[in-house]
Amino acid sequence: MDRIDAIARKHGLKVIYDAAHTFGERYKGKCVGEFGDASIFSFHATKVFNSIEGGAVVFREDWMKHRLNCLKNYGIVDQEHVVWVGGNAKMNEFQAAMGLCNLKHLEAEIEKRRKVVERYQERLKGTEGLKLPAYKEGLTPNYAYFPVVFDGFSADRNQVYDRLARHNIYPRKYFYPLTNDFQCFEGRFSSKDTPVAAYMAERVLTLPCYADLALEDVERICHIIRSMQERV
Ligand SMILES: *Cc1c(COP(=O)(O)O)cnc(C)c1O
Repeated sequence: MDRIDAIARKHGLKVIYDAAHTFGERYKGKCVGEFGDASIFSFHATKVFNSIEGGAVVFREDWMKHRLNCLKNYGIVDQEHVVWVGGNAKMNEFQAAMGLCNLKHLEAEIEKRRKVVERYQERLKGTEGLKLPAYKEGLTPNYAYFPVVFDGFSADRNQVYDRLARHNIYPRKYFYPLTNDFQCFEGRFSSKDTPVAAYMAERVLTLPCYADLALEDVERICHIIRSMQERV
């Protein structure tokens, strides 16, 4: 963030963060939404904090409030004036009520996830060819995901995925395929232009991580992964 900020200042650019899954995180004591010109959070059901569907934009400059309020309501300014090409991005009362209920559980949710992540770290650390997430100094994480990278492991990422799936454990290949490889962008973009991202996308696996995941299940997942290494 510090480096992106420096680049933006040097070139007079605006910074908009995809902060979708970072709700509740802090960096150097500041809320993660305080960086950049705007940050966008997702409140989708799969996130640490959710209102079933929905989200929020936090922003620095006052003028954005009016603009965003118009844009989320078809660009309508008043009954006779539509001045922006908007969409329908309104949040309804039911979603808001759900969000208020879930907000009360945010701390407990993060704390439970922390335990899951710590158990993963304990059981998987030192496994050859398996990289675990490292939390940067100054970061207060929300433990939204637990992505690991298989690089030099005795099985490749897809083999691990298949093995876990056979045990009815469904990790996700986040983020794979890469956006620039989506079929809809064929001929326009390609992951050949982003070789580092392409390399990681072949090797990353995001292991199950949610507040109610039993620690015994974490043990089981780690056992299956480690047994794949020992067998070779
Ligand atoms: C979840 C997520 C999104 C999508 O959020 P929606 O609320 O479904 O639009 C976008 N970017 C990242 C990084 C996410 O984790």
